Amino acid sequence: MASRHRAVAAVGHRPDGQFHLRRRSEKRSHHRRSIAGAIRRAGTFYVAGGLVDQWSGHWVGAGADDIVGLHRGGHELACHTFSHTRAVALDSAALAMEMESNRRYFLSLDPSIRLENFAYPYGLGSLPRKRQLGKAFRSSRGIVPGVNSGIVDLHYLRATPLIDGQIGAEGIDRAFDEAVATNGWLIFYSHDVDAAPSPYGCSPSLLRHALEAARSRNIPVLTVADALRRAGA
Ligand SMILES: [Zn+2]
Repeated sequence: MASRHRAVAAVGHRPDGQFHLRRRSEKRSHHRRSIAGAIRRAGTFYVAGGLVDQWSGHWVGAGADDIVGLHRGGHELACHTFSHTRAVALDSAALAMEMESNRRYFLSLDPSIRLENFAYPYGLGSLPRKRQLGKAFRSSRGIVPGVNSGIVDLHYLRATPLIDGQIGAEGIDRAFDEAVATNGWLIFYSHDVDAAPSPYGCSPSLLRHALEAARSRNIPVLTVADALRRAGA
């Protein structure tokens, strides 16, 4: 990615996905939606169809209504493996099946849902799978922290955890300053947004700090799809 691009921040996202749709309870998904709505910013939600409404050990996955609501609310829905299996554990036929099952599931919810971007479950990618994903999606995202700048591997995008305990206000500010200094693309990922977040989620105050850090630096907050379009990628 050429450095003349304006620094863009796509706040969104999870340890292995951008804002994974994780509904821990009605109150909490209302919480997440209300923050996103109040701040009028769109995020990219990587979704594993097989985890919809399922207990994950930390939360109950978002329901079909939540997913359709996010889509119709202007957020981007993006692809994960349907069963959330690590891409590295799949051969090309199995990965193709997972992607197809996910596409079919979301088309059954709303025929206007298009899955253009992918995230590696648990951030684990492999060269053969990366090549395969490169033919199916515009980008694939991992969990290696840092700012995407200079020559960017679109099928192993860097992403920084927006997770309490893994980053604080100072770390967020440093990441944004680096994005400004390098004309880079900063992607944050997280899961649940909750006053008592899971080990993979963030508190509302941490999310607000990240969004405020973008706003105070005049950095647009975009979905991955919009950031790619803006970069001409
Ligand atoms: Zn995931």
